[in-house]
Amino acid sequence: MAEAGLREGAHARRAVAVGEPLFEVENLVKHYPVRSGAFLGRGGGVVRAVDGVSFTLRRGETLGIVGESGCGKSTLARVLLRLVEPTGGRAMLAGENLFDLDKRAIRLARRRLQIIFQDPFASLNPRMTVAEIVREPWAIFPGVVPRGEWHDRIADLLTRVGLNADDAHRYPHQFSGGQRQRIGIARSLALNPEIVICDEPVSALDVSIQAQVINLLEEIQEGFGLSYIFIAHDLSVVRHISDRVAVMYLGKFVELGTWQEIYERPTHPYTQALLSAVPAIDPAERTRRIILEGEVPSPIDPPSGCRFRTRCRMAEARCAAEEPALVERAGGHRSACHFAAAPAE
Ligand code: ADP
Ligand code: MG
Repeated sequence: MAEAGLREGAHARRAVAVGEPLFEVENLVKHYPVRSGAFLGRGGGVVRAVDGVSFTLRRGETLGIVGESGCGKSTLARVLLRLVEPTGGRAMLAGENLFDLDKRAIRLARRRLQIIFQDPFASLNPRMTVAEIVREPWAIFPGVVPRGEWHDRIADLLTRVGLNADDAHRYPHQFSGGQRQRIGIARSLALNPEIVICDEPVSALDVSIQAQVINLLEEIQEGFGLSYIFIAHDLSVVRHISDRVAVMYLGKFVELGTWQEIYERPTHPYTQALLSAVPAIDPAERTRRIILEGEVPSPIDPPSGCRFRTRCRMAEARCAAEEPALVERAGGHRSACHFAAAPAE
């Protein structure tokens, strides 16, 4: 995406604002059963969409999660919201494991944890007005916003996402893609959540309006004190907004670090390849481009050892035999590669 138009200095601001651990995810696993007739591989007939992911999200922090299509990013988001059931792991929010909650308790937890979807066309009900879309969560959670205040609160939310109070009476099809995503953002804020999971919120939008929506999400984060999990399929989109970045490949995190560590001192060959696909401003940088060949292998039968080895320019026999653990290199910087050097200080 174009970097032009993004606000400056956001990282300096957030480095100060980030607070205590808020959301702790441990060894999250989601395996989907393979439907009959499909190829049953060594994996035992399951799609290993998410296969052991751990991270901590701090208050006020943005954790970027990046990986090619099919790496399990949306599944991770959906499991955290219990839109699909986890296979294993824990997701601790304020001392409660979201994966232990019954249906009623999950609904209550969702007040604190909201999602913005990739496709602003598919995620808004075309038969509902903007006002009906934004206030729908208040009907599910009576008492959060007294009925007498709905009108003013809707106007306030619409203004905060850059729409007009008058837009409340219009229908989604009357808006552009960027404006529809703003409606989705207003709705996600209606219950005053603490965490918003943004699943590729700008991927379906024109490049020219991606920066506007990212700027808006940053402003809203400041105004509402939110923590974000921000998912994208390439590293350029999350660069500006993320405090830390996790790089995901075939259901696992392969590298996790601060944005400086990931963009300036990447240690995993997959991160390096994704980074070299980001258009470089400096022509000297362009010559170092690493081409990532082929597609992500099937998560039904992932490669033995290191899952990235079939596309890795450094792979050796050891990589097929032994799975590299996500080990700490320096500070909190983690990398899962047998050859990842300790980053130079
Ligand atoms: P991403 O968001 O990174 O593109 P997804 O989480 O959508 O990845 O998908 C990860 C893997 O899980 C893909 O191989 C996908 O085909 C598979 N998958 C996703 N949803 C289902 C499902 N409901 N049943 C079976 N497999 C699924
Ligand atoms: Mg996805």
